[in-house]
Amino acid sequence: MHRIASGELHWTYTLGDVRITALRDGYVDMPIGRLRQNGDKPFSDDLPDQVTLVGGLLRLSVNAFAIDDGNEITLIDTGASNAWHPTMGRLPQALDEAGIDVEKVRAVCFTHTHLDHIHGLVLADGRDAFPRLTRLLVPSEELGLFRAEKRLERFHGMAEPFEAGDHFEADVEIIGAHGHEVGHSCFRVSSGGERILIWGDTVHVPSLQFDRPDVTWEFDTDQDQARQSRLRLLALAADDHCFVAGAHLDSPGIGRVVRSGASFRFEPL
Ligand SMILES: [Zn+2]
Repeated sequence: MHRIASGELHWTYTLGDVRITALRDGYVDMPIGRLRQNGDKPFSDDLPDQVTLVGGLLRLSVNAFAIDDGNEITLIDTGASNAWHPTMGRLPQALDEAGIDVEKVRAVCFTHTHLDHIHGLVLADGRDAFPRLTRLLVPSEELGLFRAEKRLERFHGMAEPFEAGDHFEADVEIIGAHGHEVGHSCFRVSSGGERILIWGDTVHVPSLQFDRPDVTWEFDTDQDQARQSRLRLLALAADDHCFVAGAHLDSPGIGRVVRSGASFRFEPL
């Protein structure tokens, strides 16, 4: 992958014949108490030095990703819009900065249906963010969760369920990574011999969870399954030498995973 453009809120790379753009929706600050270990117990170890806090809180980046095949643009996740903390909702500015025409966004795929991934379908003023959207892919296990979001009611009928193992277009494969949520999924994009795994919420706190993949997050619906999925995906990314892109990895949100002793290390692009 080679960087071809960047700015305050976007980073665009080539991946074979396609372009991948990381789009920064913003960030959210969370208490340390959301970290979990040993099943679902509060994290009680000392925080390693590399974990930096802002005002005593963990600062999580919030990202979405665009795949541009030259004709159409697919978005993986959409940020929070104005549905959660006001530190998020900058996806429209990020798209504008990246020169991505929202009229060319024809498909949106969700890794899962939490607030900070789905509400960017609707702008803060209530208009559609992507006026020519034709496909909206939602994990089949989370159709009910998606349809419970009243703010997104006009999209409920458009939701198209997918399963792990499905392919989206020729070069995007869906890999199940359940645990953080019941249908949490990753999208592996392949082009020109290069691969990137867009892995949603596999890691929430990058300064801690590559080194300590056993540490989970309060919002993981099934703590043990989330832990197992993270270990499997870290090993897959490291051994397959593919790039990873994460919704909560620090900007640009893209890099490589390498093995480091019994755990892993992240090398950002
Ligand atoms: Zn998230």
